[in-house]
Amino acid sequence: MIRYALICDNDHEFESWFKDSAGFDALNSKKLIECPACNSTKISKQIMSPKVQRTDLVPAEQEWIAPASQSSELLSPEDLEMRQKLAEIRQRMTEDSEDVGSRFTEEARKMHFGDIEQLPIYGRASLEEARELIEDGVGILPIPPAFDERN
Ligand SMILES: [Zn+2]
Repeated sequence: MIRYALICDNDHEFESWFKDSAGFDALNSKKLIECPACNSTKISKQIMSPKVQRTDLVPAEQEWIAPASQSSELLSPEDLEMRQKLAEIRQRMTEDSEDVGSRFTEEARKMHFGDIEQLPIYGRASLEEARELIEDGVGILPIPPAFDERN
């Protein structure tokens, strides 16, 4: 389920739950979503508020490709260079930090609230956990993924 902030053509704002983005589109194209204030069916999603946009710091999802054959032609020499660059960025961002793995969310929050000493750390967090941290005012940044060199 996903909650959308919606607005009708008379500028009435309301919220509603949908199965997913496609679910919203399907209902809306059939004019099955009504404004609770004026019953208008000219509904659109609201532009995200600045607070919501902050969570854009965290990538929503990673896109993947599954090539039909085991060809490495998907990556040109330039692409491989870019990949190398990202690996270097990752290295630079993390070299002085401790890898706390799955304890990242917990440790980052403790530091933020002064429960433990502030030290640079990195680790894993789900999108949901990362969003909660950002909403709590904890400063975190996504780091480039570690590429699996065996591919
Ligand atoms: Zn309305």
